Amino acid sequence: MGRRKLVVGNWKMNGLRAQLGEVEAIGGLARDHAAVEVGLCLPATLIAAADGVKGGAFIGAQDCHMKANGAHTGCLSAVMLAEAGASWTIVGHSERRQDQGETDADIAAKALAAKAAGLKVILCVGESLDVRDAGNAEAVVSAQLLASLPEGAASDWLAIAYEPIWAIGTGRIPTMEAVATMHAALRAALASRIGADADAMRILYGGSMNGDNAAELLAIADVDGGLIGGASLTAEKFAPVIAAAA
Ligand code: PEP
Repeated sequence: MGRRKLVVGNWKMNGLRAQLGEVEAIGGLARDHAAVEVGLCLPATLIAAADGVKGGAFIGAQDCHMKANGAHTGCLSAVMLAEAGASWTIVGHSERRQDQGETDADIAAKALAAKAAGLKVILCVGESLDVRDAGNAEAVVSAQLLASLPEGAASDWLAIAYEPIWAIGTGRIPTMEAVATMHAALRAALASRIGADADAMRILYGGSMNGDNAAELLAIADVDGGLIGGASLTAEKFAPVIAAAA
């Protein structure tokens, strides 16, 4: 099957020019581990400067607008992010679904706008703790994925990130069995929509992944990489995750 591992840092609302040295160091790690595709989704204010020091890593954005331009004060389009130097963007992160009220339909539209601008896309899905405790997380997250999946979804431009909301930034992670079950369910959901190409689509795990748990998580059959918040902010913390993926 040969899905190349994809390991992506999400810096969220963290990072000033003073942290460009970390971007450069992570770019060096990416060059040293070419078997792994490594990227950093940065605050938009850093993308252009980071593009010059990214080494073997790609630079991505964390969101984009669904329109290419227009009267949307404070928003950034995928075209603008691509011009600044981004080659990927996240869409549908749970923090945006919650804080900005983004719907599944918004997220599908954003993914299509990103593709039209030439960006690759990481589409995030994940359940709340209530859903996990109710015992139907696989059904809920599979439905969320299918509702957020853009027209023409294909493995050459789209990756999925499964991020249980209760695991993000908390230090808690699901059991390895729960991660394996969810990723298999999401691949089956993808297959129901896109057929055989589901086998090639990368499904990342995200939520408190770090140097201590990355090797075990990344060894799960359907886990094709990670989306990493806190543990991607410095090269020192990110290095063992990248090494585990390699
Ligand atoms: C994230 O926000 O995508 C994330 C996974 O964060 P953390 O690794 O800090 O839990």
